Amino acid sequence: MKLLDQFNRPLRDLRISVTDRCNFRCPYCMPAEIFGERYQFLPKPQLLTFEEIARLTRIIVRLGAVKVRLTGGEPLLRQDIEELVAMLDSVDGVEDLAMTTNAYLLPAKIDALKAAGLKRLTISFDSLDDEVFRVMNGGRSGLKKVLAGLEAAEAAGYSPLKINAVVQRGVNDHTLVDLARFFRNRGHILRFIEYMDVGNKNGWQMKQVLPSADVVEIINAEMPLEPVPGNYFGEVARRYRYADGSGEIGLISSVTQPFCGSCTRMRLSPEGRIFTCLFAVEGVSLRDPLRSGATDDELEAIIRATWGDRNDRYSEIRSSLTQELRERRKKVEMYHIGG
Ligand code: SAM
Ligand code: SF4
Ligand code: SF4
Repeated sequence: MKLLDQFNRPLRDLRISVTDRCNFRCPYCMPAEIFGERYQFLPKPQLLTFEEIARLTRIIVRLGAVKVRLTGGEPLLRQDIEELVAMLDSVDGVEDLAMTTNAYLLPAKIDALKAAGLKRLTISFDSLDDEVFRVMNGGRSGLKKVLAGLEAAEAAGYSPLKINAVVQRGVNDHTLVDLARFFRNRGHILRFIEYMDVGNKNGWQMKQVLPSADVVEIINAEMPLEPVPGNYFGEVARRYRYADGSGEIGLISSVTQPFCGSCTRMRLSPEGRIFTCLFAVEGVSLRDPLRSGATDDELEAIIRATWGDRNDRYSEIRSSLTQELRERRKKVEMYHIGG
């Protein structure tokens, strides 16, 4: 029987966060003043093993998921991540296997990832201005390292890449046209993401959000755009193509044009909790029953019940919440469950 949530949304995508650690400190995600030297990340025994992740993936795929994405934290920090890629690639029913990364470690890892069966890559890349780029990753990397990662991905045949750029008003909004031109010329799909109030640690304020409609206007003024109809149910990015046929961009507008109605994503955290929304407060532990000897059928029943109860639509109600109510809601952090 088809698994549907309270709003009839099927389960189609599984996002697996393989670590809560990161080598960057993007202020919109893991501000350095909070995630300092002494910050306690999850100890290794608490992380799901690759075998545990593969087992849960098999069950979640049975329930309808066809797309799997590895994320984090920074997924390339998880030791031998290519072994997990190979294990997931051999799960029957996984039609798409992708990863989102900041690309810093890609040159060393790309061949192993490709050989293991990774199909698609998304690289996060917020600006081509070295100074702005550094500000947006908390001073952990200049452009050069990440460009090397991008080139390694291209050389391994990952094309087109998806490129994620978080847009923050007053931080990188003056560098968007350059970014668009650069990725258009390289044949990749740049997606502008509205800065979101994920978690409670980034100090998000509405005035820091540049609405996607403004981004379209800025790009369109330099390189004319026309809208493209969506590809499939559950696609989060609104697409525009360059009128001269030279490629396309996407807009992920969680703040100004929420897409909860077609949200088909389940998230698995590094310590084995499932979350049914990026802005969730609570997750449901699969690791505890799994490590206490639950059978596949018992785990499946928990996942079914969790998805069946799902009624999340945070982005649609965000604007009705006061700043105080938003701040009081103890949401899970982005670095913990991935984008
Ligand atoms: N470390 C990897 C990376 O940065 O690509 C994967 C994990 S990261 C949490 C996934 C995506 O979430 C990245 O593209 C990042 O830019 C985006 N992201 C993080 N915090 C965000 C926020 N507050 N608003 C919008 N996007 C955010
Ligand atoms: Fe790390 Fe990615 Fe978060 Fe930046 S967005 S701090 S790279 S997890
Ligand atoms: Fe999906 Fe939650 Fe985002 Fe809505 S707010 S699109 S339900 S993750």
